[in-house]
Amino acid sequence: MIYMDYQATTPCDPRVLKEMLPYFCEIYGNPHSSTHAMGEEAATAIEKARKQVANIIGTVDTKEIIFTSGATEANNLAIQGIAKFYKERGNRIITSEIEHPCVKETCRALAREGFDVVFVPVSDNGIIDLDFLSKSLTDKTILASIMTVNNEIGTIQPIDEIGKLCREHGVIFHTDAAQAIGKIPVNTENVDLMSISGHKIYGPKGIGALYIKGKSRLRLAPLFHGGKQERGMRSGTLPTPLCVGLGIACEIAQKEMKEEFERLLKFKNYFLKKIFDNLPKVYLNGDKEKRIPGCINLSFDGVEGEGIMLGMNDICVSSGSACSSQTLEPSYVLQAISIREDLAHSSLRIGFGRFTTMEEVDYVASKIIEVVNRLRSMSPIWEGQ
Ligand SMILES: *Cc1c(COP(=O)(O)O)cnc(C)c1O
Repeated sequence: MIYMDYQATTPCDPRVLKEMLPYFCEIYGNPHSSTHAMGEEAATAIEKARKQVANIIGTVDTKEIIFTSGATEANNLAIQGIAKFYKERGNRIITSEIEHPCVKETCRALAREGFDVVFVPVSDNGIIDLDFLSKSLTDKTILASIMTVNNEIGTIQPIDEIGKLCREHGVIFHTDAAQAIGKIPVNTENVDLMSISGHKIYGPKGIGALYIKGKSRLRLAPLFHGGKQERGMRSGTLPTPLCVGLGIACEIAQKEMKEEFERLLKFKNYFLKKIFDNLPKVYLNGDKEKRIPGCINLSFDGVEGEGIMLGMNDICVSSGSACSSQTLEPSYVLQAISIREDLAHSSLRIGFGRFTTMEEVDYVASKIIEVVNRLRSMSPIWEGQ
């Protein structure tokens, strides 16, 4: 099997697993039990992990990091937590049309509760319409939530510009950075809240973090009630092995980011050249420049994405077409960038990551070319093109 679905999840790096293992059966004390050494030891490991998480987003204040079960929970906590705590200030929440479902659906749920939610459109290159965003920032606006990197098309949003716009208008700014961490430099200068996920950066599944800027003195309504761990914002016993895993995953990703970026960029350029040289009418979805190299979303005119995937069952990729998403609608992200509906159904997302090799990149490109040519040659629609 060749794995090229690194946006869906990543394998846990063996170096990460190794650090986690002692915290299952040996150092298993409750990190919130300060009455004995076993608890203290777990707490120390968690504080080290908190520092590693803080480091990768360029902050030194570990109090700004709250562990959660993943980016889904971090996004829910940020958006619901701010909306509910600051509802006296106003009722407008701004987000974009291409957010991950855990942001989009959270905002939709708030809209059903009476919040005035604005979904900012993106241009055809998948970058947020800053003009629209700017005009949407009213004095009734509490929060804006815009993702740093999109998980389907890999486009990078101008987070600093958006953050500055929000600050000018006194609007709290949250970004879902699950797809950005460890891939591009990320910092919190112009961000009030930021979500992170462990399993997108070669850490374990079931852990993530929310950065909450100390200087902004933000308060959040918690999602659930309990022992008031994580400064009262996220009750529940912290999963020591998972926290340790997220920490070391951040440290490794930070250390290797620059080299990894260059490596993946080479893969991307090679892959796209090979595809474009050998197949007509293939389109790269999303901006040509403002994107991460490890996420390639292509539309193959005249064939269904599902069909291509069926033709290469030794390769894990994902498609934006109807069947895979279990609805009749093609991907809402591809709809938001206004590509033709048939091209949305003919899309494939190919993800490169830490364990991808040049041989695999070459093989997958050849296989796609072969399958697309075969499908096109059998297609009555394609005939005559
Ligand atoms: C994967 C992902 C999430 C969800 O993260 P979990 O840790 O699986 O909850 C949120 N946002 C983006 C952009 C993602 O890619």
